[in-house]
Amino acid sequence: MLNASTLLLVTTALSGVMLLVLSSLDADKVDGVSEWRRANVLAIVALLLFAGRGVLPDLLSIELANAIFLGTITLIYAGFRRHLGLGLPRLPLLLGSVGAFAGVLFFHYALPSQGLRVTSVSVYHSGVCFAIWATLPRSVDPRLRYPYSFTRNAAFALGLGHAWRGAFYLVDAFMPVTLLDAATWNLVFFAIGTLALPALTLGAVMMANARVLADTAWAAEHDHLTGAPTRRAFFDVAARELARAERSKGSLGLLLVDADHFKRINDTYGHGVGDQVLRNLVERTGAVIRKNDYFARLGGEEFGVLLPDTGREAAVAAAERLRMALDSRSHGTTSQAGVAYTVSIGMAMLEDGESFASLMARADQALYAAKAGGRNRVVCAEGGTEQQGEASGHA
Ligand code: GH3
Ligand code: MG
Ligand code: MG
Repeated sequence: MLNASTLLLVTTALSGVMLLVLSSLDADKVDGVSEWRRANVLAIVALLLFAGRGVLPDLLSIELANAIFLGTITLIYAGFRRHLGLGLPRLPLLLGSVGAFAGVLFFHYALPSQGLRVTSVSVYHSGVCFAIWATLPRSVDPRLRYPYSFTRNAAFALGLGHAWRGAFYLVDAFMPVTLLDAATWNLVFFAIGTLALPALTLGAVMMANARVLADTAWAAEHDHLTGAPTRRAFFDVAARELARAERSKGSLGLLLVDADHFKRINDTYGHGVGDQVLRNLVERTGAVIRKNDYFARLGGEEFGVLLPDTGREAAVAAAERLRMALDSRSHGTTSQAGVAYTVSIGMAMLEDGESFASLMARADQALYAAKAGGRNRVVCAEGGTEQQGEASGHA
């Protein structure tokens, strides 16, 4: 037969399992894990103390157990806040937990009532559960969506459950004769009270795992130095855009952007300044290209820009705009890195039935021509041969 002791034992075991699962996550890499771990250790201690009711002195099985249990939910909340990079509202938490604990003391010694003790603790638990619900953002990266909505919903349901539990015992305290089967309700509320922690921890573990996976995916697709997408990501997007352009008979432009005399910049100012120039180049390019354009670092000081649904003239204009935006000399200013630099751009438009490799090769030839022509210029590939058009820049 299910009873409170069985539930306590099951929940203690669940907290132990959660602790093992949390141990598989690197607390140094995932914010919040150390708080969630401590919360589950405390939960095990509190639950065992609760289970010792009647055997252990009341001071341990009531006061200490409740104090620790108030700490566990607070730590779970603190873990969520830290995971999201948010500070902790210390004062409301302190006032709330001290108030709840004062309630436990008052309704133990001054006006003994187990029901009102439950009420004062439940109010705090309910408040923290709703705070977790309110803290977790609604709109997140699709990869994080399920764990976030699971945790939000769990926190909301538990907040309601605790509020209901608190209200029930408050009413019950004044109406000893209840129409409902008290023993069953007791168990239901007990379950809400004790299962909250494992449920929230489960949500936390899912969130942390999703975060690690999303970070790993991001790192695989983005360059460590500049934050720009990598060559691999560029080719994935290119394959998609090529298929789309073929399907819709749309146009696709490709720019290959290469920093001029970059070796000289490194040799003159040092590799660190060279790195800064690359970051500056990425930042400025991001500010110039349109939302639908896709920009990536293909390697070294060479970058690629895909221009979907862009006709030849618009692509030439985009290339020229980019070249000018990156030419700090033409503005009479130096780049943020403190070093003037320019880029050469080779451009090619996708032709009917052309492979991406062929498109790249033509853009590369155009880039070579731009370098040979004096650098700091745009050269457009024309069919199989490149041609220096009106868009050529000035050296
Ligand atoms: P060009 O105008 O013909 O393109 O000349 P360049 O000097 O830019 O071209 P080259 O290919 O000779 O040299 C490219 C240099 O870019 C050499 C390499 O050390 C440097 N480089 C590649 N990756 C990085 C990087 O991540 N940081 C820094 N600082 N330099 C890099
Ligand atoms: Mg170069
Ligand atoms: Mg190069």
